Amino acid sequence: MRSETTSETKAPAACLIGWPAAHSRSPLIHHYWLRTLGIEGGYVIEAVPPDEFGDFVLRLSTHGFVGANVTRPHKERALALSVPDDRARAVGAANTLWYDGTELRSTNTDVEGFVDNLDAAAPGCDKAEEAVVLGAGGAARAVVFGLVERGIRRVHLVNRTLARASALADQFGASVHPASWAAIAGLLPQAGLLVNTTSLGMHGQPALVLDVGLLPQNAVVADLVYVPLQTPLLSAARARGLKTADGLGMLLHQAVRGFELWFGQRPQVTSELRALVEADLTRA
Ligand code: NAP
Repeated sequence: MRSETTSETKAPAACLIGWPAAHSRSPLIHHYWLRTLGIEGGYVIEAVPPDEFGDFVLRLSTHGFVGANVTRPHKERALALSVPDDRARAVGAANTLWYDGTELRSTNTDVEGFVDNLDAAAPGCDKAEEAVVLGAGGAARAVVFGLVERGIRRVHLVNRTLARASALADQFGASVHPASWAAIAGLLPQAGLLVNTTSLGMHGQPALVLDVGLLPQNAVVADLVYVPLQTPLLSAARARGLKTADGLGMLLHQAVRGFELWFGQRPQVTSELRALVEADLTRA
């Protein structure tokens, strides 16, 4: 359902819908790709309060948009108001919307953001037999889905609130095992991959206290936190000579699919883009 206000000659535009949405790096990322690929298009921020979200999304094309990213607090509503793919359905939240003909479709690009970043930073780490994932919130759902999809045999899901880890494990099947925080030290020696999806280690949050010395020498450590860029967990892992994948890499990789769906070309996560966003994060 394209509106009369969207002319065929107008450059395509996408937006980020959030409330609030002012501090997102998504415009920087998409503007970089539009510029370097020579595509005429736009990407803007739309601050939409919860009570106006449904109307806004159902009339996205009328507002002149070919698609959108969706952030807090709208991701679950976005899922309900669109036709989700398997990833969005499994994660229980949609962060990317696009039109397939007249149908509003959705996906959750955090899954491929996580997996593609791991592939780029530590190729082959999905061969690990066991992974330990810390946290059982929204980001953990995307990470666990990605790891199960990649065939990791045992995913230990460790969370402060054990009931949340158990609920998530029930949803993702027999390869996901809930564990309490106290179990970490016993799990690390077998873990080929450790992923922090909690907010621990983020600026303003408590530190993540954990001994990376317990991990095997070939383990890979991923942290979803990207403020600061170099979290204490990543620093400790690097100091031990372990391979790492950082949260900024995931943020950049998760943006690829939306851009491709809206503007028709698959962009690259380049070192130049990374430096641009790093500089912006450092200024903040
Ligand atoms: P969320 O749904 O609110 O979940 C937060 C998780 O952190 C929960 O498991 C929570 O445990 C745990 N947690 C919080 N404070 C804790 C503490 N003091 N001790 C132990 N555990 C604690 O948040 P989210 O959306 O999953 O996001 C989590 C982090 O991932 C954030 O830092 C976010 O910025 C980052 N993230 C990064 C990317 C990226 O692209 N790099 C993408 C998505 C998210 P309980 O269940 O016990 O409360």
